[in-house]
Amino acid sequence: MIITFYGVRGSIPSPGADTARYGGNTSCVYIELENGQNLILDAGTGIRGLGKRLKDSDNRINILLSHGHWDHIQGFPFFEPIYQPGREIHVYTGNMSNKSKLCSLFDQIDGANFPVNAEDLPSSNKCIFENIETTLSYEDIRVRQVALNHPGGGCAYRIEGDGTSCAYVTDNELEPPGRVTTTYDQWVAFCRGVDVLIHDAQYLASDMPHKHGWGHSLVSQVRQLALDAEVGCLVMYHHDPDRTDAEIDFIQQDNEHFFRGKRAPSVSLCAAEQMRIHLTARRNGTAKIEIT
Ligand SMILES: [Zn+2]
Ligand SMILES: [Zn+2]
Repeated sequence: MIITFYGVRGSIPSPGADTARYGGNTSCVYIELENGQNLILDAGTGIRGLGKRLKDSDNRINILLSHGHWDHIQGFPFFEPIYQPGREIHVYTGNMSNKSKLCSLFDQIDGANFPVNAEDLPSSNKCIFENIETTLSYEDIRVRQVALNHPGGGCAYRIEGDGTSCAYVTDNELEPPGRVTTTYDQWVAFCRGVDVLIHDAQYLASDMPHKHGWGHSLVSQVRQLALDAEVGCLVMYHHDPDRTDAEIDFIQQDNEHFFRGKRAPSVSLCAAEQMRIHLTARRNGTAKIEIT
């Protein structure tokens, strides 16, 4: 399994000299398996760059949305494959109770908010509302889902293929105030032993208590989850738009210090655009993790 990051920022694109190294594009991750099967996780502005790469291939494009917030859909009108005649694009979401959120990917292309109408797109687009755990099953790819603790709801996914695994948990508050959709213990169970955990780590203690309840986790909470769930590699994701490269470097150093001598994870990273994680299954059930 190869995981490539095209957009790692939360809330709003944040280009500029202070964010250039980790990148300013909003959420988008591309997963490829050895047999060519693939999944795009979210369609933030990062999907624009991915589209330039995918336009030269002709395989079916599968987009799996975590939820319909703007920073997870806003790159889609600029995704070049939607302008390719007959290009097959399937869009999935785990949140079946909220069909309107899935439609928002196309609804934003309405001739008024964007100069093109979705019905005029030459690509062959399909929104699939059925249970992804059955509809998105290929020979060697399995997806499981659990509900996010996030205003408006959404889904986290655990993707397994090539004998390896990745959990994509973005826009999730591990310990929210008020009603808890998925408890901390349920998150530990969902992420248990995953080779790569990509988790929202938008906030620091200094953001609290003002942003408690906004639907994002603290760096310290995500560290604890990686440790408790014994994940192989932790990737902190959905960086705050105001977090500078220097501040993310500091979080990275602090993570390395925190995890030194601990049983898990063996690798901890802060997501950066174009970062690539190559997972290879090993006989002992763990994965070899290579970062480029
Ligand atoms: Zn977001
Ligand atoms: Zn959100």
